[in-house]
Amino acid sequence: MTSHNIQPVLNKIYRKAVSASGIYIYDEEGKAYIDGSSGPVACSIGHSHTKLTALMKQQLDKLQYVYRSQFGSYEAEQLADKLFKVSGEKYDHAFFVNGGSEAIETALKVAIQYWQENGQPEKYQFITRQKSYHGITLGALSISGHQIRRQRFEHSLIKNPRNLTADLENDSLEIHLQELDQVIKETGAEKIAGLVVEPIIGAAGTAMVPPDGYYEAIKRLCDSQGILLIADEVMTGIGRTGKWFALEHWSTVADIVTIGKSLGAGYAPIAATLMRASILEPIKKGSGIIMSGHTYSGHPLSCATALKVLEIIEEDRLMENVSKTGKIIMNYLSGLKGKYDFISGLRGKGLLLGMEFSPSLKGLQAKIIDCCFKNGLLVYPSVGGPNGKDENGILIAPPFIISEEETRLMLEILDQSISQVNKAL
Ligand code: PLP
Repeated sequence: MTSHNIQPVLNKIYRKAVSASGIYIYDEEGKAYIDGSSGPVACSIGHSHTKLTALMKQQLDKLQYVYRSQFGSYEAEQLADKLFKVSGEKYDHAFFVNGGSEAIETALKVAIQYWQENGQPEKYQFITRQKSYHGITLGALSISGHQIRRQRFEHSLIKNPRNLTADLENDSLEIHLQELDQVIKETGAEKIAGLVVEPIIGAAGTAMVPPDGYYEAIKRLCDSQGILLIADEVMTGIGRTGKWFALEHWSTVADIVTIGKSLGAGYAPIAATLMRASILEPIKKGSGIIMSGHTYSGHPLSCATALKVLEIIEEDRLMENVSKTGKIIMNYLSGLKGKYDFISGLRGKGLLLGMEFSPSLKGLQAKIIDCCFKNGLLVYPSVGGPNGKDENGILIAPPFIISEEETRLMLEILDQSISQVNKAL
């Protein structure tokens, strides 16, 4: 039968998911899959969480939608307030959008507008990392280094971003600081609006973590040069690494932060651009209008859902489970690394863990992902390698609710799948 629905790989017939519960997704034949990647690192509290589905049904009967230019809503107010509180009262304001790419677009626009309203309109360029993914819209793709996703659109992308190329994992802090300093000098601080970073590089870096002291030092450098630090926490935020914001691991507060994925947890499309009061203040006093937004921004049903997600994470102490389970998984993966020569790297924090394979073995990533799928386990592809072009990594990022027994089962399937692929090499 011809499908009128467009899926990513056009000639592939996708199995249909028909139900899901906890860490499991079930297909049309009743086969169970462990959601070892939380979809695209999104389903933080697992599937069909009864507390959440009950709340959503209630909310639908109360208020599902109002347009943000005509009304505010208690749901959006309460969510913004909760985010302010969980950030330790650091991120004072939230602008709600529908997905991570939109949150990044808004972050870039807010940074540009901030400088305009401060009388420095020439500050509109961004520094980013070569290994990075910030979203698929043209603005977000322009600041992303993910070669595979951007190469087809190269001619249409904004040309100004400067990429940092130092190796986040292997180069010293001094090298990183020298490079950033050099890029700022070459471009001119008076032209740079902000530096955009993923605290832990996800889709383009198999959960790459920087050296100790890195964020504290780059924040100091940015501050001294009048450059905003924009943290893209779309993948790392809202508990995924065991903290509400991954930057907390380095006691660093950004000027602007984007969150998404785990915020809606797969229940509602919602993301947000958070900012310090100091960023919004000049805009408030100046034009008084934020030039961003979408038809569904601040959607009451999505906001109520996200608020409940935050409450569940808090009440059920899920971040403790994230930290504990992350360590169990990492221990097990270290054992696998000892068994298979082609596992070249293991990294990450909490339940955002990456496994990189030797780039010389072409096609290994696809083989492992396919074999895991056949065996009932979902893992997520990530690019790695020196230039961030090798399709040779996977992310393991199960929902925060995963139990010890489920973790063991997930790891056994992963082990079995890698062993099967190894035998067939
Ligand atoms: N930023 C980061 C760090 C991401 O990982 C992603 C998606 O993978 C995005 C932004 C884009 O988010 P979305 O796919 O919701 O537009």
